[in-house]
Amino acid sequence: MATVLAEKAKELGLKYFLISYTDLFGSQRAKLVPASAIAGMQKNGAGFAGFATWLDLSPADPDMFAIPDPETLTVLPWKKDVGWLASDIWMAGKPVAQGPRVVLKNVMAQAAELGLQMKSGVECEFFLTNADGTAIADELDTGSKPCYDAGALMRRYDVITELCDAMLDLGWNPYQNDHEDANGQFEMNWHYDDALLTADRHVFFKFMAKSIAEKHGLRATFMPKPFLGLTGSGCHSHVSLWNGETNLFEDEAGELGVSQLGYHFIGGTIKHADALAAVLNPTVNSYKRINAPRTTSGATWAPNTVTYSGNNRTHMVRIPEPGRFEMRLADGAVNPYLLQAGILAAGLDGIKNKIDPGKRLDINMYTEGHKVTDAKRLPLNLLDALRAFEANDTLKASLGESFVKSYAKLKHGEWNEYAAHLTDWERKATLDC
Ligand code: GLU
Ligand code: MG
Ligand code: MG
Repeated sequence: MATVLAEKAKELGLKYFLISYTDLFGSQRAKLVPASAIAGMQKNGAGFAGFATWLDLSPADPDMFAIPDPETLTVLPWKKDVGWLASDIWMAGKPVAQGPRVVLKNVMAQAAELGLQMKSGVECEFFLTNADGTAIADELDTGSKPCYDAGALMRRYDVITELCDAMLDLGWNPYQNDHEDANGQFEMNWHYDDALLTADRHVFFKFMAKSIAEKHGLRATFMPKPFLGLTGSGCHSHVSLWNGETNLFEDEAGELGVSQLGYHFIGGTIKHADALAAVLNPTVNSYKRINAPRTTSGATWAPNTVTYSGNNRTHMVRIPEPGRFEMRLADGAVNPYLLQAGILAAGLDGIKNKIDPGKRLDINMYTEGHKVTDAKRLPLNLLDALRAFEANDTLKASLGESFVKSYAKLKHGEWNEYAAHLTDWERKATLDC
């Protein structure tokens, strides 16, 4: 029986619902609706003025409606009388093709036609900073080898365990938390699941991390490269493809325990990597993570080449164990729905066209990469990635032509805004030319 939200409100003692959607920039937008009005909203959705939604709608368009998916109902652990809901975007009685959740559902339906279900687990890295985001919050966290630092982790016991307790209560099966490789940087992991469920939880996790950090007078930022000398924040996604209870990426006889189908899927992500970057590395700042020189701790842990390997973290794709691979390209700014949709669209093309991923490279790309003269570099900036994305007919067909057009339009706007800045570096480098 479908969940009736008005009944849930009574059962759970909810006073409000936060009907939210994710825009093309990956930001969460919402309306706060009293429980007394939820029945109508469940049916017709919460109305928004299209132009202000950052989904590339026009001021002349009619209202856009965010229709909540009742199965996503999540009581806010830090405000227990509010129920959060993810929603799909509708306008004039039809789903809006550029709504990121709609895009993911469409690609998952293409996979389902082939009897395939993608499961994924995301690894959210983030910094805890002071309230204005200019410096990390922990003044004692200054060591030059901060990865897994126990002291720095335990100094944030309050925030990290409030978040982990919340995930335990929500039944997400969190299993580990650590201090990452940059001062002030953390990562929290919960169990993998169906790609749509993971994307919904990913959106909620970011919202929860920001909200709980704020409660503690801090700021949680998922910005890809907030501090130039430090490792950036990635958002690795671990991917497997299932038919019922069978993991189709697993094959004892395959190299590293991965099936031919799995290698074709990886082949698709390799083939479309430069275009995928426009989605997985969505901001101007993203390219400062994947093209960064090594940091003081010795590595950035981010890829800069379109290559894959076994259990080796210097490549775009890593195969850590039989039956799954880790896509290491995406960063903290990625839109959770588009992360899954992009990987799946590229992977499905790999399967349909039996794309060979090329040679597996089991070398340290940071120190020996220069020896592989034909290794393809990832795009150097957002503009190059966007151009590759717009020219990619395969991704267009899978993600939807109007989505690609709208996304590229908003992102070109971001690039143009950035390009209109005169930087200190330019002045210094050019004033006396
Ligand atoms: N922070 C690294 C990145 O930007 C990843 C570190 C890790 O391997 O966990 O992708
Ligand atoms: Mg990590
Ligand atoms: Mg990882």
